[in-house]
Amino acid sequence: MSFPGPPAESRLQRALQPAWSAFVDLIYPPLCSVCHVPLGDGARGWFCKGCEEALPLVEPPYCKVCGEVYDGAFTNEFRCANCSGRKLEFDFAVAACRAEEAVRELVHQFKYERRLHLRGALAALLLRTLDEPRLAQENLADWLLVPVPLHRSREMDREFNQSWELCLRLAQLTGIPAANALARIRETDSQANLDRDERLRNLRGAFALRKPRFWEKISLTQGRRILLVDDVFTTGATTSECARILRREGGAEKVVVITVARG
Ligand SMILES: [Zn+2]
Ligand SMILES: [Zn+2]
Repeated sequence: MSFPGPPAESRLQRALQPAWSAFVDLIYPPLCSVCHVPLGDGARGWFCKGCEEALPLVEPPYCKVCGEVYDGAFTNEFRCANCSGRKLEFDFAVAACRAEEAVRELVHQFKYERRLHLRGALAALLLRTLDEPRLAQENLADWLLVPVPLHRSREMDREFNQSWELCLRLAQLTGIPAANALARIRETDSQANLDRDERLRNLRGAFALRKPRFWEKISLTQGRRILLVDDVFTTGATTSECARILRREGGAEKVVVITVARG
């Protein structure tokens, strides 16, 4: 898969880049995002070798709809208990990692401890979802990255929307455009103690298309194929409700959910 690169830099910027990087590395030597050991000269990754190898990556077999991971060998495609008998409004969901060990900890620190610098490492994980065979065959430069929105009051508390931060980073890495196309218009109770059906009821009326600003096209999403971005996928209730709005009200042609982690 090939992507258009980041915006063209001026000659001067290109000439100064190595010196600037060396200067930054001198002041802030790159450390592993998990165990914080120095990564060594010229390292451009986010993890040391040991932590990289220990990442709980999602590997087949997994549910072809919601991405639920199964242990053991399955030779056929299958639908899992999480999503059978249920109408999920997105086409399918792909996660990079299971929400375990280091990945669970990184997401928690990013979201709740405001460690915003971790977005680089998390976006690098999110990037792996684009290698999923069904996405790898697409020309993703024509798609649109859309974050699951936070309610304004929660975003003000947290000072950022973690999903939007991930979208912006992924846009930089791939050239896929990103747009805050949805708004959360109603605060919802915490989903943690609700079952599947209660989660869906709890989310009804929570999302809407964001009203376009005057300089924007009327509809960002009409006829578009969309990568809906979130940090963690749990039951899929939230992303399914967002996908429903993007399709029915936004006219989106296709919605695929990508997340850093699968809970
Ligand atoms: Zn490490
Ligand atoms: Zn499933």
